[in-house]
Amino acid sequence: MRETIKINDVCFDKEEFKAVEEVLKSGILTDKNGMGPKVLEFERSFASYIGVKYAIAVSSGTAALHAALMALDLKPKDEVILPSLTFPAAAEAVVLAGGTPVFADINENTYCIDVESIEDSITKNTKAIIPVHLYGLPADMDPIIELAESKDIVVIEDAAQAHGALYKGRKVGSIGDMGCFSFYATKNMTTGEGGMITTNNKEYAEALRAIRNHGESRTNWNTRLGHNYRMSEIQAALGIVQLKKLPDFLEKRRSNAKKLTEELNDVDKLILPKEPEGFTHAWNLYTVRVKGANATKRNKIVTKLKEKGINAAVYYETPTHLLPFYMNIHNNIKKDLSVTEKVSHQIFSLPIHPKVSFEDIKYISKNLKKILGRM
Ligand SMILES: *Cc1c(COP(=O)(O)O)cnc(C)c1O
Repeated sequence: MRETIKINDVCFDKEEFKAVEEVLKSGILTDKNGMGPKVLEFERSFASYIGVKYAIAVSSGTAALHAALMALDLKPKDEVILPSLTFPAAAEAVVLAGGTPVFADINENTYCIDVESIEDSITKNTKAIIPVHLYGLPADMDPIIELAESKDIVVIEDAAQAHGALYKGRKVGSIGDMGCFSFYATKNMTTGEGGMITTNNKEYAEALRAIRNHGESRTNWNTRLGHNYRMSEIQAALGIVQLKKLPDFLEKRRSNAKKLTEELNDVDKLILPKEPEGFTHAWNLYTVRVKGANATKRNKIVTKLKEKGINAAVYYETPTHLLPFYMNIHNNIKKDLSVTEKVSHQIFSLPIHPKVSFEDIKYISKNLKKILGRM
């Protein structure tokens, strides 16, 4: 029996084992201000990799988004525009920070937030926009930044799936006012759980460091509302090693994606993922779309792939605005999200993580072609 090909997988070797062992031996597992030696080193190297002045390590990508939104001091009527076809953490963070999520539609070719739909969604209460670099492909940032600047709106990039992705030569996470990353186990680099906020803005950086540690601006001096969003030294030690390996991971993902595109290019029934001119995909997920399919047909294909030991997966089966908790919020606005809804019925993702071999890619494409041929 062939081993199941997972949709994503972690890549550790003795370097990570050694890094964790060193932290355990040092006895410093965390720091009361969230700024232990490993955390500071990880923050410095991450800021330099992304090309920003400040990076603030936190306990998860969701914590990063929540802290970034808390730094804006949202008022109850404040609105934050974001896509619906994504992991619900961004919408959740908006609600937790006291604002209202407003869902915009996506671009049918890139699956990232659509600029015209953002424009239609802006009101006098719009405080921020959260473009998501979905699957690792950057959202079209230039028109978003231009629009935001003209209306004094903050841009927070959700780069949880896009470590190392480039938009017109710039790393994502360095383009908006703040960038939020996740180091969850399925991301392009991992610390198990973990997150990072990147920014060039000193005030945001100071607010974020305080929010991470119960709103303390110095020890035992709580000047704003915060949380315990500290990253542990063990996580940071893993992060330092994984960041060094990230370029190699990305290279392997890219060559797997290229190979899969070569193998599937002649399949009429599939729309393959695009990488527009000037965009560099980080390939966290290779997401294809079945032309004209409904969810039942798409799900059947995914089930059949799983029977062959290929863990294809659907991101995201239910767009956020149709999830019970968010439906109520969305219903007050009743915006047309028809592209989001159509695409969500037709997409599924295939494995291209660094442990997937070219032989695996051939096995995946051969079986997918067979399955589609019989439908
Ligand atoms: C993973 C992810 C998050 C949340 O990150 P966690 O570390 O799991 O909290 C947020 N947004 C997107 C797009 C993600 O993929």
